[in-house]
Amino acid sequence: MFFRGLIVSAIFAASLFAQVHPDWTQPFPTHRVIANVYYVGSKGLASYLITTPQGHILINSNLETSVPQIRESVEKLGFHFNDIKVLLISHAHFDHCAGSALIKQLTGAKYMVMDADVPEIEDGGRTNFRYSNSPDMFYKPTKVDRVLHDGDEVRLGDTILTARITPGHTKGCTTWTLRVVDHGKAYNIVIVGSPNVNPDYKLVNNAQYPQIAQDYERTFRTLKLLPCDIFLGAHGDYYGMEEKFAKLDKSGANPFINIEGYKNYIAEREQAFRSELQRQQTQAQ
Ligand SMILES: [Zn+2]
Repeated sequence: MFFRGLIVSAIFAASLFAQVHPDWTQPFPTHRVIANVYYVGSKGLASYLITTPQGHILINSNLETSVPQIRESVEKLGFHFNDIKVLLISHAHFDHCAGSALIKQLTGAKYMVMDADVPEIEDGGRTNFRYSNSPDMFYKPTKVDRVLHDGDEVRLGDTILTARITPGHTKGCTTWTLRVVDHGKAYNIVIVGSPNVNPDYKLVNNAQYPQIAQDYERTFRTLKLLPCDIFLGAHGDYYGMEEKFAKLDKSGANPFINIEGYKNYIAEREQAFRSELQRQQTQAQ
């Protein structure tokens, strides 16, 4: 009875995600953000295609079931899915990386992951500091082809992406930056990995992740220093993707250029982290 209960609760939890986040699997129109950067994700899970004449970079494979949807978006833009040469992620949580094994298998892309997220990616999320007892959040263990360190560059064709470690949400959570030129003007793009403290994250006395609070502090220091004209992230709701998409092509200005929006978001998220930290510190006393 006990084991049967466990299995039933795992299945229930998996379907619960679909109920709680119907937008994760809901299709969304693929669109060009700016220059060679395109959105190919679903309504709730962001995935970015960065195209070059030497092949493409994909950031986030999302759920395993997202892969056909990402493929369709890439092809709708007129690009070939098989030309994806490099696969990157925002962080080692199943909603951003569960499709990676399948994408590697289909395209032969090289999977490049931040050092501190590599053990989890290669064991399918089983050693995650918070979700090691949540089988519904496991994914297919996937071999990493290149281990990245903070500040490493990923180059393909004329595109250079920089990996910035922004830990806390996961130990190797990664914010990606790149510079693009559009109509003769240069822009800094920041794709935020995640600054969020999930429900039940222990920020104080966390035996599985003792330095978690310091890591979040480091993340906010890093994010505040990054120059940002175009603000993107692992989920569209970080940067108001739907509202900005609705404004696309309606006026001359590109709605994704949003310097103030980035600053406000980071400030608001830092405040949320600080009040949660304070609440947990008070409780621990
Ligand atoms: Zn996450």
